[in-house]
Amino acid sequence: MAVVLVTGGTRGIGAACVQWFLANGDQVATTFRSDDPPTAPEGADPDRFLAVRCDVRNSDEVDAAFTAVEERWAPVQVLVANAGITMDSLMLRMSDAAFHDVIDANLTGSFRVAKRAVAKMLRAHAGRIIFVSSVGAFVGLPGQANYAASKAGLVGMARAIAREVGSRQITVNVVAPGLIDTDMTAALGADRVALMTGQVPLGRAGTVGDVAAVVGFLASDAAAYVTGAVVPVDGGLGMGL
Ligand code: NDP
Repeated sequence: MAVVLVTGGTRGIGAACVQWFLANGDQVATTFRSDDPPTAPEGADPDRFLAVRCDVRNSDEVDAAFTAVEERWAPVQVLVANAGITMDSLMLRMSDAAFHDVIDANLTGSFRVAKRAVAKMLRAHAGRIIFVSSVGAFVGLPGQANYAASKAGLVGMARAIAREVGSRQITVNVVAPGLIDTDMTAALGADRVALMTGQVPLGRAGTVGDVAAVVGFLASDAAAYVTGAVVPVDGGLGMGL
């Protein structure tokens, strides 16, 4: 049984990861930002679920969230840095703030949680860090200069950290989902979703469960010798990139 923290596990891909780890028998914490903490998913053991208030843009909140997990169970052994946002617009209309805010949440936010996690993983000589990137890091969709930069940045960051912590048996990997059916893709609009779905070799959008299964694999003993990898979960959309 591992202690797992999923950022942004209140909905979408993060919520599916929370459910996957709960079903696996782990102790699972998720961050949340709203006034109402999420309750344990239906059918889950409430003793193995914890919701910790945390905006990943705030280092103090990140520290407090990890401390809450440590006080309830033990240091985080598996970190899924999933929280992310989009603020799409064509580059000439993209404000500096829109660029900065997406980098701050997606890239710097992932750095903040990974840094806090690694401190304890180094002492334990064990740990798993999984960053949730995107096929958008490699295909570069128009309107996503900020998002693509943030998601491509995760790959370089993951590989740098993987080299820093590998000797302590801590693995650091990246999952790169393609078009996955969530609130985030609903915001793209039906026309764009249909266009993108038409380009997916497997001919369908992915499910949140498709992504959670690969995240779960990377956290498992079976993936003990996998680090610095980028694993696409995109139905073939980005193959070869
Ligand atoms: P959703 O928009 O459905 O969920 C995003 C989650 O991230 C929410 O729980 C949200 O919390 C949380 N979050 C956002 N900003 C912050 C923050 N600053 N601090 C803490 N939590 C935050 O997104 P998806 O499930 O679709 O996406 C999850 C991840 O997968 C993202 O990183 C996304 O970029 C990536 N991805 C998604 C794809 C897709 O097709 N859906 C494709 C490729 C990658 P709150 O509820 O408070 O807003």
